[in-house]
Amino acid sequence: MNYYSLNMKAPNTTFKEAVVKGLAPDKGLYFPESITPLSKSFFNNIQDLSRHEIAFEAIKQFVSPDIPEKELKLIIEETLNFDFPIVPITQNISSLELFHGPTLAFKDVGARFMSRCLGYFNKDNNENITVLVATSGDTGGAVAHGFLGVKGVDVVILYPSGKVSDIQEKQLTTLGKNISALEVDGVFDDCQDMVKQAFLDKELTSVMQLTSANSINVARWLPQMFYYFFAYQDLSKQHKNIVFSVPSGNFGNICAGMMAQRLGLPIHHFIAANNSNNVVTNYLKTQKYEPQPAIATISNAMDVGNPSNFIRIEELFGKSFNELSTHLTSYSYSDEATKKALKRLYFDYNYIADPHGAVGFLAAEDYLKTNPNAHCVVLETAHPAKFLDIVEETIRENIELPAQLDKVMKKKKKSLKMATYHDLKYFLLNR
Ligand SMILES: *Cc1c(COP(=O)(O)O)cnc(C)c1O
Repeated sequence: MNYYSLNMKAPNTTFKEAVVKGLAPDKGLYFPESITPLSKSFFNNIQDLSRHEIAFEAIKQFVSPDIPEKELKLIIEETLNFDFPIVPITQNISSLELFHGPTLAFKDVGARFMSRCLGYFNKDNNENITVLVATSGDTGGAVAHGFLGVKGVDVVILYPSGKVSDIQEKQLTTLGKNISALEVDGVFDDCQDMVKQAFLDKELTSVMQLTSANSINVARWLPQMFYYFFAYQDLSKQHKNIVFSVPSGNFGNICAGMMAQRLGLPIHHFIAANNSNNVVTNYLKTQKYEPQPAIATISNAMDVGNPSNFIRIEELFGKSFNELSTHLTSYSYSDEATKKALKRLYFDYNYIADPHGAVGFLAAEDYLKTNPNAHCVVLETAHPAKFLDIVEETIRENIELPAQLDKVMKKKKKSLKMATYHDLKYFLLNR
């Protein structure tokens, strides 16, 4: 598969180049040149397929021929080595739990898949690729774990000192090996600025291959299609009109769902569930797309004022507002409403959600008011223990730490303090 830049000012390129570069030279996001629907027999027989077989069929055309089929099968096996259970909440709402991976957030799947693609592409090179990422919390942990021990790839993560949770910091700083954690004296935007400066610094890029690992990278974005296929496999016998409610920040996850639909997966509708960062909710009301500075909320992985993948969604629907609005509904909720939902989920339905999942649940409820025949699947994107303080304080109950977290909390933090871009550059050049 070849990919084109959505800015239209860069040459088309292969999957391999798109993964290694991340962003096109004209700063556009890469998008596949074609999307060929899967066969009828695939969907008719989906009940008989393993999850690995489903994932293989879903992603094959997008990575071929750069990754041979045998290698792709191995990558999928290593990526998907945990469960994606569906838990019923009400008669019309189920939770698709995407948090059973090593860092307890759905980003594990994309990070693990991308790391293994990069490892494969770089296996015969003497020079390591360096993945440089800034994180406000969740991305860093998933990337660190996803890339741990992958040959040919070094990972450098910048995070704002004192601004990520204890759990998140431990997930970033206790791994060692090919993962370095840099603790920046500043806020997330300072980390992000340092990363951007590094990508533009010719003195660095002439001596090392730098790449990023956020959802603009096609190898992190596309494997998120798998969740939607898995849910369909589980639910299609009992339910018709399957609707996905997706807690959204950069809109990478929901956009992957729309790719799955384009492959022929019978998805009835999408709901973008947002916190107070409501650019897309407003867009669907007013037809005006107006990015805003991000607002801090308790569902902080969705605190995005200008979702980077929205341009891919527009491309998928031929830039037609009418097309898009027949497939997508969006609701937005305050922190107060989110906390009330956390309480109701616990006390009425005996389900402990995290704040992102709670926003998704609220959106599903609102959608069902006017579409009572749908079955809504809420993508539960993080384990509640990752947002321990807010969840425990809201439901007044202690949450048990899953084994993954318990282990990491006992390890010793290792990080290097950075104050300026010069510190970062010195570090990168003298590793
Ligand atoms: C990253 C993240 C999101 C938002 O996903 P996007 O693909 O950026 O829309 C939602 N919930 C959690 C827990 C996350 O970590």
